[in-house]
Amino acid sequence: GSSFDHVVRAPEDPILGVTVAYNKDQSPVKLNLGVGAYRTEEGKPLVLNVVRQAEHSLVNDKARVKEYLPIVGLAEFNKLSAKLIFGSDSSAIQDNRVVTVQCLSGTGSLRVGGEFLAKHYHERTIYIPAPTWGNHPKVFTLAGLSVKTYRYYDPSTRGLDFQGLLEDLNSTPSGAIILFHACAHNPTGVDPTLEQWGQIRQLIRSRGLLPFFDSAYQGFASGSLDADAQSVRMFASDGGECVVAQSYAKNMGLYGERVGALSIVCKTADVAGRVESQVKLVIRPMYSNPPIHGASIVAAILKDRDLYNEWTIELKAMADRIISMRYQLFEALQARGTPGDWSHIIKQIGMFTFTGLNTEQVAFMTKEYHIYMTSDGRISMAGLSSRTVPHLADAIHAAVT
Ligand code: PMP
Repeated sequence: GSSFDHVVRAPEDPILGVTVAYNKDQSPVKLNLGVGAYRTEEGKPLVLNVVRQAEHSLVNDKARVKEYLPIVGLAEFNKLSAKLIFGSDSSAIQDNRVVTVQCLSGTGSLRVGGEFLAKHYHERTIYIPAPTWGNHPKVFTLAGLSVKTYRYYDPSTRGLDFQGLLEDLNSTPSGAIILFHACAHNPTGVDPTLEQWGQIRQLIRSRGLLPFFDSAYQGFASGSLDADAQSVRMFASDGGECVVAQSYAKNMGLYGERVGALSIVCKTADVAGRVESQVKLVIRPMYSNPPIHGASIVAAILKDRDLYNEWTIELKAMADRIISMRYQLFEALQARGTPGDWSHIIKQIGMFTFTGLNTEQVAFMTKEYHIYMTSDGRISMAGLSSRTVPHLADAIHAAVT
């Protein structure tokens, strides 16, 4: 017998498993709205022009070698990433209070941040929104934190349960870590307003809680890098501490390059230096040091004025296409007279629409219409096109009538 005979088959990942099922479907009309990756109007993955340009010059630079990066990654990348999320006028950066380390995309940044906190922060509980990205509880549990939830989404309004959120954050143990989505909350597409963020900030600071921002969609939500960073900047500029995980998967389309950053904003430069030394001890036994290629692409784009400007234009075009899909789907349902209020489709923000469709309705749409999505009714708007909107609208209409 095998030493592994007792190993039981694990279920597919609830999000990535959607693509596995989609790939097996032979129907010509099949549609994958599961995974959160951008697609063009033709349904194709997109490599940004600026990425192609940056890669071209990297490949042709004969001086470039494949040596190991330092444990914390590419220094230039770290500096530029902090500037991107905190703003070029950030006082925390000017005071040298920010530690930034290159990590394996958003997921790796969350994991390294979580393990650092589990080792060195006095309160080991992290509160995550209900619902949240399905990987959050697993990442933080394995990092050594204990995971609890706070109220976030109200299904009856398909909006924010702001009262519930404030009540729950008010009754956490003092010092608890609170996870926020910087913008474009996944899966709900529901974000606090700036005024609500202001109230949340006051509560966090008055209760001495530690905010941990997951920024996976900067620039991808509204089309503006600055607008999508406002929640983070509010907290980073008040002199207090915060932790931020950044991903370049969506906003530069660098999904498979696994490039991201973890920043920890400290109270003083002296503390920041000591924190960095301990973050290195988390990374070294995990993967030694991060890969060089993706970070070099990002640094090349962020440091060159022309490439940067071109990036913002390409980014805005992606965001605009997604927003236009919202309007097209909303109008297609109106045209069909589909029962119910579907205005949340145009109100929600970012890559996903949290449709409100239940598990049975989702299963029906997959079986009868070959449309694939997560069972919570989340659809990726980036996977839609003008050509496929009518098919989706037909399916939703049939599912609810
Ligand atoms: N956080 C959120 C909220 C996400 O939606 C994602 C991607 N689906 C990530 C983090 C991490 O993505 P990655 O590791 O590819 O950067």
